[in-house]
Amino acid sequence: MAASKYQAPRGTFDILPDAARIRARIERTAAEIFVRAGYEPVSTPAFEDTELFERGVGRSTDIVRKEMFTFEDKGGRSITLRPEGTAPICRAYLEHGMHKLAQPVKLFYAGPFFRHERPQAGRYRQFHQLGLEAIGTDSPLADAEAIMLLAELLAELGVPGVQLRLGSLGSPDARRDYLEELKAHLRAHEAELSKDVRERIELNPLRAFDSSDEGTRGVMENAPTIVERLNEEDAAHFAEVCSLLDASGIDYEIDPTLVRGLDYYTRTIFSFVCSELGAQSEVGGGGRYDGLIEQLGGPPTPAIGWAAGVERIMLALGEKAEATDRDAFVAVADDGQRQRALALTGELRHAGLAVEVDLAGRSLKGQLKHADRIRARRAVILEADGTMQLRDMQTGDQHPVEPGAVADELSK
Ligand code: AMP
Repeated sequence: MAASKYQAPRGTFDILPDAARIRARIERTAAEIFVRAGYEPVSTPAFEDTELFERGVGRSTDIVRKEMFTFEDKGGRSITLRPEGTAPICRAYLEHGMHKLAQPVKLFYAGPFFRHERPQAGRYRQFHQLGLEAIGTDSPLADAEAIMLLAELLAELGVPGVQLRLGSLGSPDARRDYLEELKAHLRAHEAELSKDVRERIELNPLRAFDSSDEGTRGVMENAPTIVERLNEEDAAHFAEVCSLLDASGIDYEIDPTLVRGLDYYTRTIFSFVCSELGAQSEVGGGGRYDGLIEQLGGPPTPAIGWAAGVERIMLALGEKAEATDRDAFVAVADDGQRQRALALTGELRHAGLAVEVDLAGRSLKGQLKHADRIRARRAVILEADGTMQLRDMQTGDQHPVEPGAVADELSK
């Protein structure tokens, strides 16, 4: 084996053709579903000003505190490889005056994201998300539609063992009182909490619900939950989201302890988990972020969105490699025919057929072996005298074919 001392950096990976094909199918399926629902594609840069994420994602979050790839560019500006897609899309929404368009603006995206996490199965430092955002409406209809589209995507892809967890964080005013109550509960049990949670009682008490520490979990069992403390408006909004999902036949479980690792969420939050995955069981999730655009300096603009992890989807699917077939392989019985072979290959491809030609100077026997390897259904063999044979690769049957009739024959 030709080995090199160079390897993909820790927590990153190469996407080789078998995996790339599955990814392409996932992204294609997603784009079809989103476009049918009137969502439009967008793409933002792989890096942004660091402050966008500090303000958007929140300084108290793990993402901003520990996980960002941040560096200074040559002009001394602080730049960060994007750890998530929502803050950049909101930045673009404001930068391009999309608040002047008919609302909500419905967008979708796919691409690489970067977090300096401890690598493990399903958790990488460069990973890929696809996601969507509906910006400019606070209607529960948008929440339900966003959730339905992720449910549809996972169903269409055949992701097994999917479960939807649903919660609400309420709106910021209502949440403030609840957070005081929660902090008081945590402070009363400080000694039983993990160090990490204890240090963040003031900064981010909600994350205590996410802890895997045994002592902390015990304390959280009796903690007040936000779903029990929603104000009337938030409770009505949440009830409407639930009833819309009921009416559309989407199964879910209300999880009053659901939290997410980003500060911008308000009201509805949700998480799709997959029983086939281990510790990193979430395939996708999101929620409402009614305050984010204002936080970034824009007008009050309610919005909802989610992101799904492409690698998690692939793990859940079991990464079954998908073979590709070729309609034909163009082979030569004599080296003098190579020029014609390449020209014929071009014509057949132009006619819409999937065709390969020998690029390695193989013998005829070697070419037919290769045709087999790439799963070509037929081989077109150019003989030394200029005639052509059409060979069925399955049966080995072979018969002469007129040059002008090859494309038609192959299309049969
Ligand atoms: P988040 O942006 O944290 O809400 O995550 C949305 C989705 O992205 C998760 O449900 C995962 O499927 C995926 N994801 C998040 N972080 C990672 C990571 N480090 N590696 C792989 N997938 C991730």
